[in-house]
Amino acid sequence: MSKQKLTFNPLSAWASNEKKPLIISGPCSAETEEQLVNTALALKKLNVHAIRAGIWKPRTRPNSFEGNGTIALPWIKSVKEATGLPFATEVATPQHIEEALKYGADILWIGARSTVNPFTVQDMADALKGVDIPVLIKNPINPELALWIGAIERIYNAGVRNIAAIHRGFSTQRKTKFRNEPLWGIAIELKTVFPDLPIICDPSHITGKRTAIYEVSQKALDLNYDGLMIEAHLDPDNAWSDAAQQVTPAALEQIISALKIRQATSQDAMFINHLEEMRHQMDDIDRDLLEVLAQRMTMVQKAGEYKREHNVAIFQQDRWAEIFKSRPEWAEKMNVNKDFVADLFKLIHTESIRIQTEITEREKLKA
Ligand code: PEP
Ligand code: MN
Repeated sequence: MSKQKLTFNPLSAWASNEKKPLIISGPCSAETEEQLVNTALALKKLNVHAIRAGIWKPRTRPNSFEGNGTIALPWIKSVKEATGLPFATEVATPQHIEEALKYGADILWIGARSTVNPFTVQDMADALKGVDIPVLIKNPINPELALWIGAIERIYNAGVRNIAAIHRGFSTQRKTKFRNEPLWGIAIELKTVFPDLPIICDPSHITGKRTAIYEVSQKALDLNYDGLMIEAHLDPDNAWSDAAQQVTPAALEQIISALKIRQATSQDAMFINHLEEMRHQMDDIDRDLLEVLAQRMTMVQKAGEYKREHNVAIFQQDRWAEIFKSRPEWAEKMNVNKDFVADLFKLIHTESIRIQTEITEREKLKA
């Protein structure tokens, strides 16, 4: 997709990451100095690589807690002095960048609601010219790879080479168990566009609930992600933002110790890893396939009921003759074996008849 060949610094250039994965953790928001410093001290014991906290919070609705802003800036120094760890925060305007840098932030991230807007990203890219600081770029809210790529290119063109992508999932219309559907295929495609771009998973914003953090983190590691950004809070239930998805430092310790870390040490291991990536993609595609199939069956049912209401025969031979002719033809154009597709539609046909017969049975029962 991208015409530019971009080369990024490896994580090791800006994060001591001998122990993969890189772990960035901390509260969703910097609530009070005490909360921030105490959380960071508890996380330091887990050997996390950096502390995160939102100082400016881009919230969907104006009455939510929008971050402490300027008054929280001096707390950056307190966290760094107490832990010796680098501090990461979200920036959304050139002024945020200026203030975050002035108060000693070590890592900046661009949030999903900013990545979506090229004007915003360009303003920040201009403010980052000549600044040597790692910038993490979250995926845009909507599932559009080009916007993510565009934001990375804009920051890269400002001269920043310590860039990593953060995969935090996407807003979709589909009902899923996630707060933001991961759509792993989009992140994998990003890796094929920028093979050496480090990628970090944010399971907190993907899942929206603490019980699912482990599962999504493991999946990210199985896909060979370079790091994880996980929200942690000393008292998650009373957090001022994103309460349901934050974990205590103790819970994070358990998550980290349960994670299986894949090492790509030999040709064989790389092969296995790649095969696994492909299998995960296939799992996602299969789920999509099933969702589409479920939608089709709902339509079969609706059409069956509609015909019954209008006293029209449920099974229409001409319609199915047309389907058996057209679908294999469409398949051929898409390089899919037409006999396989003909067989597949025979199965779909059988199932459609079963569903439609049930509708007739129900009518008989009512009568
Ligand atoms: C966050 O990291 O707290 C945040 C607001 O994230 P996102 O931009 O992914 O919604
Ligand atoms: Mn959050």
